[in-house]
Amino acid sequence: SSSTTPIKATLFPGDGIGPEIAESVKQVFTAADVAIDWDEHFVGTEVDPRTNSFLTWESLQSVLKHKVGLKGPMATPIGKGHRSLNLTLRKELNLYANVRPCYSLPGYKTRYDDVDLITIRENTEGEYSGLEHQVVKGVVESIKIITRKASMRVAEYAFLYAKTHGRKKVSAIHKANIMQKTDGLFLQCCDEVARKYPDIEYEKVVIDNCCMMLVKNPALFDVLVMPNLYGDIISDLCAGLVGGLGLTPSCNIGEDGIALAEAVHGSAPDIAGKNLANPTALLLSGVMMLRHLKLNKQAEQIHSAIINTIAEGKYRTADLGGTSTTTDFTKAICDHL
Ligand code: NAD
Repeated sequence: SSSTTPIKATLFPGDGIGPEIAESVKQVFTAADVAIDWDEHFVGTEVDPRTNSFLTWESLQSVLKHKVGLKGPMATPIGKGHRSLNLTLRKELNLYANVRPCYSLPGYKTRYDDVDLITIRENTEGEYSGLEHQVVKGVVESIKIITRKASMRVAEYAFLYAKTHGRKKVSAIHKANIMQKTDGLFLQCCDEVARKYPDIEYEKVVIDNCCMMLVKNPALFDVLVMPNLYGDIISDLCAGLVGGLGLTPSCNIGEDGIALAEAVHGSAPDIAGKNLANPTALLLSGVMMLRHLKLNKQAEQIHSAIINTIAEGKYRTADLGGTSTTTDFTKAICDHL
């Protein structure tokens, strides 16, 4: 409300549908009287030599200063000689864990109606270390790096998350039967942290079996923690269980308490600028950001308004089988507030 000092947060509207859905978030937050003062930063039009990417140095400084932000999708610019935007963000801000809640939305029917799980993905190493090269013609090599430091950090985060969010179980997902050294070390770290949390059930599940169990009965899982590449794949699988990319939020956790929430989906160039995008994923990411800031009352209000709008079924965007525009759907959410 107007009596509280607004909290400063960085906003990256991003590319493609990004600015349309970011506008939706701003409108809904205003309607809910959320005291956030957005520090808006767009992706640059040329490479900033200080970041060696299209991300401006000022935008990174903004997140480092405010320690909290919301990010729209960023298209990966074509061309060589600069770093990927998302990788730059992860590296520069030390965003070591990607947290994706995945739950059935009441009122939007999918194959399952009892999904309620959280995937926690290690975000800095594994196959994403950028170490690929040609050994000789016809033979290439990619190096998977797993460190004790990064594995402990993400395992600690997963158990702490479980404890502070009233979760009962953590499953470590791996392929240590084949990747004995790398996934073996990851598991050792999870084992070590698990011993410090005797009240939280702990299990180890091989990734292929995990996929089978997830599609057969997702209710078997609670919190899942895993190395980078497995997390990339499993979290999209989970998004598919509850209705797709237009609905699923995430939050990147960094060192020094940084939280950068972002929708899971990309910039959707096929529907950009057409007022067709579903803003739900970015809105729910905004809700995660509010919960991180302990603005729980407003988080719940906005969350309910979204759920109720979708459940009512009168205003839905095309990806959910409706005919509403982004702006009509946004207005309906604001009306529910
Ligand atoms: P995408 O997620 O942008 O689109 C996949 C499909 O889902 C498209 O048909 C799109 O229309 C639809 N879709 C996605 N979000 C939607 C929404 N909110 N509402 C309605 N429909 C939605 O994936 P892509 O086409 O593979 O990637 C496009 C660009 O986005 C690429 O440049 C890619 O690098 C980038 N990307 C960025 C991020 C990120 O910033 N975190 C993530 C993924 C992809």
